[in-house]
Amino acid sequence: MGGLTIGPVPTLSSDDAFAEVKAKVDLVKVVQEHVRLTKRNKDFWGLCPFHQEDSPSFKVNPQMQSWYCFGCERSGDVFTFVELIEKTDKRGALQLLAERAGVELKKLSPDQRERADLRKRVLDMLKLAAQYYEYVLWKTPAGEPGRRLLESRRVGEETARRFQLGYAPAGRGFAEYLRAKQRSLADAQEAGLMRRDGTDFFAERLVIPIRDERGQALAFTARTVRADEQRKYINSPETPSYIKGRVIFALDLARDEITRRGHAVLMEGQFDVITSHHFGVTNAVASSGTAMTDDQVRLLKRFTDELLLVFDSDRAGRAAMRKAATLAAAHGMRTRVVILPDAKDPDEFLRAAGPDAATRWEDLVARAASGFEAGMAEDSAGLNPSNPNQVELVAGRLRDWIRQFPEGLRDGYAEAAERHTGISRHLLLRDPEPAPIPRPTNGLAGRVAGKKLSAGSYLVQLLAVRPVAFERVRPMLTPQELDQSDRAIFVRMLESYERGGPSGLEAELAGYPPEEQDLIRRAWAAPPPNVDDEVAVELAERIRLDHMKGRHSGIIRELSEAERGRDLDVVARLEAEARELGRAIQEMERRG
Ligand SMILES: [Zn+2]
Repeated sequence: MGGLTIGPVPTLSSDDAFAEVKAKVDLVKVVQEHVRLTKRNKDFWGLCPFHQEDSPSFKVNPQMQSWYCFGCERSGDVFTFVELIEKTDKRGALQLLAERAGVELKKLSPDQRERADLRKRVLDMLKLAAQYYEYVLWKTPAGEPGRRLLESRRVGEETARRFQLGYAPAGRGFAEYLRAKQRSLADAQEAGLMRRDGTDFFAERLVIPIRDERGQALAFTARTVRADEQRKYINSPETPSYIKGRVIFALDLARDEITRRGHAVLMEGQFDVITSHHFGVTNAVASSGTAMTDDQVRLLKRFTDELLLVFDSDRAGRAAMRKAATLAAAHGMRTRVVILPDAKDPDEFLRAAGPDAATRWEDLVARAASGFEAGMAEDSAGLNPSNPNQVELVAGRLRDWIRQFPEGLRDGYAEAAERHTGISRHLLLRDPEPAPIPRPTNGLAGRVAGKKLSAGSYLVQLLAVRPVAFERVRPMLTPQELDQSDRAIFVRMLESYERGGPSGLEAELAGYPPEEQDLIRRAWAAPPPNVDDEVAVELAERIRLDHMKGRHSGIIRELSEAERGRDLDVVARLEAEARELGRAIQEMERRG
């Protein structure tokens, strides 16, 4: 949906409109069109659509008809939600919601009224065009080339009608139809259907409507029926109703099956999707004319957490597959990759399989490896482990591949790559080039992850080797912020330092519990990678941050409890505390 321009400050009479609309729409339903929500106690929770996150901190309260995100701290009612998600203003949100609730608005500014009208006229025009093209395809002699094309692709009428396929005849057929119906030709131009000279933009093409997830036609893509035509497919331009990269083709038809099967099948071409539905793969969709975008992944994530990628096996297809796999992973979605044996695309595979298509498809799905594994297999194909040059080359490729995924997945992926190739996971997680003086943050992160050394035990070892670093750490960190396992030894070492200065630890070590003596002696014998005050400060900050994050999730759990008990004072206190912590965490992460 297009954004509307900033309008006048809402007047008193428009307050009535806000109230009327608010009473007629349900915030939960509106949010659910954009976010997958799970009910917990009386609230609904989901992934915030306004900031990147892996675990839900976006809460909708159906009683209050309000929402709040503990991550980015945005909050509001149904109007603010629509404002943010549709990138419009308060008036625009009112307009969209009023349309939905069937409330008549009278106080729009002339400019807003005009834009809202235009958008509606464009949508009406697209609907009319789809009906006209479909009629031409099936009911007129002019539709013959379109019918022949479908026949050659073995797409039956039933499937074609589900997608509302149509045929645009040569010349000015659509313009004449509009004239006969006394409809505006200007609107058809706004909708991208007609050239200035009145000829049909899609003339002599099989026309495929691109519909949103609710089934409303927003644009067309069209395939030529002529062998001599250079451009096989052409697409609608962007219009007041259509923004490329926001729509998923066939999602309106596939959404139920996606939910039922737990995954969506993502293909490259619209025709692949049509054939797939014809052969019973009715959870197939396509990203429609662009490489996968963040908006599209977010849209799919409302329906499922898993994408099955079916891309061409050529170089471009493999690159698109990798991009989709990493983009999906960045949004917390899993991917698997279907490899088609002896076929260049799903269309060819399914048509060749004929009546066995459904069964053969199930076999492929069952065997599909994860998106990461598919890339790994490609990167390490033909590796000879006894050839050091080859090992170095493959290790480099795998390192790059692993790094494209979110940090939390990398250890596991390096392990899988080690099992698959025999190349050590440490080599696969190593930084690309050994920089002479690595920035403390990077060096530290790498080593801590590689050695599975927590920030707390790293700090304890560092302080054992360099007790004077307590001077820097002491004012930053309270023992309560450390994990329990590091706390006792930290406090004991701090006390020794306060009594005896830099040599206090050595003087008092004999009085420490044996396991702590052991740990300190080992640190002396094999110090941690970087021992200096800067690293100590950085570790202390990391420990504080981890502690704050833990406390933050704790509060959110307590909140659910308090809400169930309807203890409003506690809810208010916890919300304030969570907000403050959230802000402090953000602040630290920004600095960090
Ligand atoms: Zn948020």
